Amino acid sequence: MSPVHLDDERAQRYLDGQLPAPERVRADAHLASCPDCRLVLEGCRALAEALSGIPAALPPPDFTEGVLARVQARERTVSRERRVAAAVLGAAAAVAAVLVVAGGPAAWASALSRFGAGLDAAVTWCRIGTDVAEPLLRALRLEIAAATAGAAIPLLYALRRLSSRAATAAP
Ligand SMILES: [Zn+2]
Repeated sequence: MSPVHLDDERAQRYLDGQLPAPERVRADAHLASCPDCRLVLEGCRALAEALSGIPAALPPPDFTEGVLARVQARERTVSRERRVAAAVLGAAAAVAAVLVVAGGPAAWASALSRFGAGLDAAVTWCRIGTDVAEPLLRALRLEIAAATAGAAIPLLYALRRLSSRAATAAP
């Protein structure tokens, strides 16, 4: 059972002829005795007439061509950027190949061995760092915990004061 009074949605459906027949009969009977619902119906009718007077916004005649031209320009730009990137990569590969051929295997072996020595040194420093840091942390864990607590207590106190000040300032 639908409600007795017409809301905007039912009034619009009434005007559009979309109410089922029994509901339309009930609405007609109600409209005959309810000035409020007649007012709602008149408002919907006036709105529909005002809207029908507004010309539909149409895109400019060259809208589709303009969009397609911009899409094609964008695709050309992307394609050009890809070609440039491929050319740069190709040039870099060619330069590397020339250097390998010109420098000979000995030059590359020495460069690779220097790179490997650098990696070895980095790994050694990391290992020393963990070898030193782990026992140090284990030995100092009580002091670290105390220092952390010592730093956290004033911080928590300050946060508590800030939050209580914010709570009293809030309306
Ligand atoms: Zn009513």
